[in-house]
Amino acid sequence: MGLTVLSGPSGVGKGTVVAAVRRLFPDVWVSVSVTTREPRPGETEGVEYHFVDRDQFERMVKDDEFVEHAEFAGNSYGTPRAPLERRLAAGLPALLEIELQGARQVRAAMPASRFVFLAPPSWDELVRRLTGRGTEAPEVVARRLERARVELAAEKEFDAVVVNDDVEVAASRLVSLMTTE
Ligand code: 5GP
Repeated sequence: MGLTVLSGPSGVGKGTVVAAVRRLFPDVWVSVSVTTREPRPGETEGVEYHFVDRDQFERMVKDDEFVEHAEFAGNSYGTPRAPLERRLAAGLPALLEIELQGARQVRAAMPASRFVFLAPPSWDELVRRLTGRGTEAPEVVARRLERARVELAAEKEFDAVVVNDDVEVAASRLVSLMTTE
């Protein structure tokens, strides 16, 4: 059990797979990250993220309130330390959904965790998903695609690779990885 870290390029469908994991495994606990990004339509404070301004984020970094934090496409993202540590101290499983630099920081700090890479069925499909989201400006999409190339090359750093071809299949593979010793 313990900590599972799910990573993979933006647009691969990490959020959709995590939503399917919640349905399959209602007791799952997913860390709520802090971000300086603006909420997208439909996002709620405290559900998808805690939305903060840059000053607040910097203060939290200084106060060592994050397990890991990283810049991604012009915004900062971080995993709050206290709730995760409480969860793990109780011997309960926990899931983080974070990008590559953060996953590397967690690997350095908590090497016994399980690192799972969510891969797209193909590069073309990833481009289609990132472009088709429709909520981001073209330059933001371009920046995310650039990062996606870097992230895809890091697949081999992970303990397991799950291809997100079918969301339900990907979610059940993730649940079995999370729940096996
Ligand atoms: P988005 O803006 O699309 O919600 O997230 C952008 C990227 O940041 C995604 O790859 C997502 O997994 C990642 N991310 C979300 N929360 C965190 C976090 O707390 N730490 C890190 N390092 N990455 C995060």
